[in-house]
Amino acid sequence: MTQKDPDSEPAAENPEEPGEDAEPKKERVLHTRVPAVLEGELKAAARALRIPVSNLVRTILEDAVKIADRASERVEDKLSRAAKTVHDERDRLRSKVERKSSLDDVVAYQPVVMARASECAKCGAALAEGAQAGLAVGEVPSAPRFVCAACMP
Ligand SMILES: [Zn+2]
Repeated sequence: MTQKDPDSEPAAENPEEPGEDAEPKKERVLHTRVPAVLEGELKAAARALRIPVSNLVRTILEDAVKIADRASERVEDKLSRAAKTVHDERDRLRSKVERKSSLDDVVAYQPVVMARASECAKCGAALAEGAQAGLAVGEVPSAPRFVCAACMP
């Protein structure tokens, strides 16, 4: 177990050496760069889950911290890894943020061809661009939900 408390700054680590040559240690727990492709991925995932991006990021953060705690790995590493695989983690994230079925109000399914990659609102299967899918028609208008061919009645 490494004792890495994010609140404790390693301020006076080497008081003997001011070290103008040595780079000062910059360790920040919650500072990471997000590549543009990841940003898009996060936004797409949040859109698919119909939650704010901030909620998704918080869920990922909580998850990353939990995993990091368990494996005693650096949070930064776990966070960036979790964020990188957010595309593959959508199903798991979905079940975390959306525990009940959101298809209770559906009255019909209309066959459609996906113009943009999404995922089945029922089983979470990936719906690729061009895939046959069902557009869920609810009692009240809402953001479009799709189900895969296997989940169509
Ligand atoms: Zn499905």
